[in-house]
Amino acid sequence: MILFGPSGSDEAFGLDPQYKGTVDMPRYVRSLDLDCFEYSFGKGVRMSEPTARAIGAAFREHGVEISVHAPYFINFANPDPEKIEGSMRYVTQSLDALRLLGGKRCVFHPGSPLARSREEAMADMERNVARLAEVLHEGGYADLIVCPETMGKENQLGTVEEIARLCAIDPIFTPCVDFGHINAREQGSLRTKDDYKRVIDTLARAIDWERVSRMHVHFSKIEYTAKGEKRHLTFADQVYGPQFEPLAEVLAEYKMEPYIVCESAGTQGVDAQYMKKYYYSLF
Ligand SMILES: [Zn+2]
Repeated sequence: MILFGPSGSDEAFGLDPQYKGTVDMPRYVRSLDLDCFEYSFGKGVRMSEPTARAIGAAFREHGVEISVHAPYFINFANPDPEKIEGSMRYVTQSLDALRLLGGKRCVFHPGSPLARSREEAMADMERNVARLAEVLHEGGYADLIVCPETMGKENQLGTVEEIARLCAIDPIFTPCVDFGHINAREQGSLRTKDDYKRVIDTLARAIDWERVSRMHVHFSKIEYTAKGEKRHLTFADQVYGPQFEPLAEVLAEYKMEPYIVCESAGTQGVDAQYMKKYYYSLF
């Protein structure tokens, strides 16, 4: 099943007095006829066990899937071994919380080369991500799905090719393809069906189709400069893109079943709803 849903609480959720906290989110998601929701631990994994269990129970009750975004401090290309241990911990803490929430998927930003060459940093990252995979298997996390994300800025690791390389390391990894990031990093490269196919085909050459088909997707329009991502926009933007419609056609043609999270700036719910309606209008 293809799934659509918002990331975080959007403006409509915040303004409606019947919704007070994340425990009310699955009701909001269902009211929009959506399927899933992504919770961000961007600034750190700070959620008590009772809270996580209560939120998990609410999502189960309403039949809405939940995923999490790991902290933004992760960098698997950092040359400092202590920082790598810290990054490992951010992932395992996120997965422990994810399990209490009853979810399956955790997204993370792989990191930046800092002052080193991209290839050197990428070689270190591949080694560290292989270690991460071992830690996750040994720690009993192999039933969960861990998603390294394509990044929007030139100075971050996470091109489509780099994410394909990381996912090829171990089946526990499934790509998080942020099409807004790709379009921003590549200065507006995603316009036609063929542009989207190029991204998907690149992944399909590196890993099995099952993981490509069920990829994690972040979708929003994003303003960019020569260095890439500047800020997230809403679907009202007509300048930067990318447009969802050609991607929807590719997803239908390729019979894919991704988990699609809308990261619009404040309109995540209605924009996710638009994507779902457009996608089903193709059948
Ligand atoms: Zn992200």
